[in-house]
Amino acid sequence: MTKFPERVFSGVQPTGNLHLGNYLGAIKKFVALQENHDCIYCVVDMHAITTWQDPKVLADNIREVTAAFIACGIDPEKHIVFNQSQVAEHAELAWIFNCVARMGWLNRMTQFKDRAGKDREKASVGLFSYPNLMAADILVYRATHVPVGDDQKQHLELTRDIAQKFNNDFGPSIAEEGYGDQFFPLTEPLIEGPATRVMSLRDGTKKMSKSDPSDLSRIVLTDNAETIAKKIRKAKTDPAPLPDNLDELKGRPEAESLVGIYAALAETGKDAVLAEFAGQEFSQFKPKLADLAVEILAPISSEMQKLQADPGHIDAILSNGADRARVLASDTIKAVKEIVGFIMPAT
Ligand code: ADP
Repeated sequence: MTKFPERVFSGVQPTGNLHLGNYLGAIKKFVALQENHDCIYCVVDMHAITTWQDPKVLADNIREVTAAFIACGIDPEKHIVFNQSQVAEHAELAWIFNCVARMGWLNRMTQFKDRAGKDREKASVGLFSYPNLMAADILVYRATHVPVGDDQKQHLELTRDIAQKFNNDFGPSIAEEGYGDQFFPLTEPLIEGPATRVMSLRDGTKKMSKSDPSDLSRIVLTDNAETIAKKIRKAKTDPAPLPDNLDELKGRPEAESLVGIYAALAETGKDAVLAEFAGQEFSQFKPKLADLAVEILAPISSEMQKLQADPGHIDAILSNGADRARVLASDTIKAVKEIVGFIMPAT
């Protein structure tokens, strides 16, 4: 088996309303992984346009996600931060993966069904083939680990299927070109901790999302202390007090989600949160949760504001990151073209 050096890749869409789910399910983990890994973090603007984005706001949304990465603690000098559309190799590899992935595989993607809604005929072709581009984002760096929220699990499985099929279909060519028995790694998803699926504050059966029509359903990273406290105070809960064990949280999705948020913010487990708050009413727990959320989010929000006041600086970070990403991605694309049998430019 080919041994791949460990490399982390993940992305966030610049579609506005960056929320607590994005922070706890993804960005907070990106920050932690920098300690022991080479990381590539991407603002996936080409994914964003699979649904309509106003060109007048897209660039600001790209800068907002970049500012959030940096404000949360991602180091764009030690690691790589860039926006996807600056590295054309993502789209090149996605085309090849369009020819590797099967219609049947994509037809099974639940996120497409959710996002396309009732009128699938009107969804963009990009929304349907989105997971192939996501596989290309990851595999153009031959990344071995991808930190994501629980909603991305199925797409990560598809990424492994695509890698495996490419490795099998082109096996002899991969060996001939000197890449051993596998060209692409079978990437591992990193989906761990108490907040891999943060739920809407209005409905514990739906995930917190950027597109929910209700602002009260999500805490966004730019909310001020007062707004955060208000949203938590108004969060839907049931009338029972907090139990003293995890089993009794089952079947209480709103309660479970708030406990999960507290645990992730406090960097502890849900059991430890229950041990501290067992028997308390939500009227007692919610102010503590609000204080903790403000303590963590306020410095992020003010740092984001500072960074966003200087768009030129953010753009320079993105173009520097893109230059470094392109070096890695172009090596992969060159090899893939040789493996597939395309004629390369004469040297
Ligand atoms: P969204 O799903 O909010 O449009 P993205 O698709 O850009 O955002 O996802 C960025 C990251 O945030 C992904 O890793 C995704 O799994 C994670 N994420 C999104 N929503 C949640 C949530 N409610 N809870 C936990 N993680 C989430």
